[in-house]
Amino acid sequence: MNSAAKPLTGAPLSDGEVDFLWWFIQGSLMDADVRARLHLHWGLCARHSLAFFVVESSFRPHLIHGCTILYSELMRRAAKHLSDEGIHSLIPDRLALHFLRTTGPCHICDLGYGPHSPGNAPRERLDQGRDMSSATRFASENRSGWRPHVCGICSGSGSAALCRPHLIAAMEADGGKCAGEQRELVKNISSHMDRFDNSFRWEQRGTDTAEDRGALIAAIGWCSGWRSLLDGPLGDLTADAAAEQPTRSRGGRAGEQEIALPERPPTRNTGGSDGR
Ligand SMILES: [Zn+2]
Ligand SMILES: [Zn+2]
Repeated sequence: MNSAAKPLTGAPLSDGEVDFLWWFIQGSLMDADVRARLHLHWGLCARHSLAFFVVESSFRPHLIHGCTILYSELMRRAAKHLSDEGIHSLIPDRLALHFLRTTGPCHICDLGYGPHSPGNAPRERLDQGRDMSSATRFASENRSGWRPHVCGICSGSGSAALCRPHLIAAMEADGGKCAGEQRELVKNISSHMDRFDNSFRWEQRGTDTAEDRGALIAAIGWCSGWRSLLDGPLGDLTADAAAEQPTRSRGGRAGEQEIALPERPPTRNTGGSDGR
């Protein structure tokens, strides 16, 4: 089975999830209250952040703008919290740790949508929304932009890169000292996301590179963890990823601990939020 035909992690997207996300990409994302909730959770849970990307890329393969707007904002914020420049350098790493945590539920989980939610949209629309072909193609064509950023713990590759949930675990373990090691990675994703976001402007069209587009996947993985992405559309694209990644320079694998704290009642392999 190729990755385009694989179901979403744990269970395929339900009719209700596809139906909700179809409306979501039509404009609810721009609602100020919704945007605020998305910021409180650093996006969406692992399942729904992947779902957002899959649904938007299936309906708008050349205009994945909703995801880009959200994740460029989130990565700019992450870069600010981890910055060692100007006034931000005065923020103690322990306070940065506080800012990196989620402070609200996943917006879509909180509305009650999950793997078994019914929906009554036309069958053709539901099938199209569940189809990961476009997401997989986008990931494949722009792999140079995300592969160096795959979290070494989520993937088990030994890479020094960490996603936000594993960075939090590492900072909790070492008092925040490891924040500096991840600073450049976060700044790199953020700057490429800004370039990708700018390329949606008419006067900037065509200026984006594979690294800029691929940063969208890196941003989703950084915010919510990589497991759902790796089990889904990236599954067949990571074979030689480890060779492109920096490996850990130190013996300890700080932060290599299970991310527990499921936000929803624990169900196996749903890719639900870990709550961090
Ligand atoms: Zn969710
Ligand atoms: Zn991770």
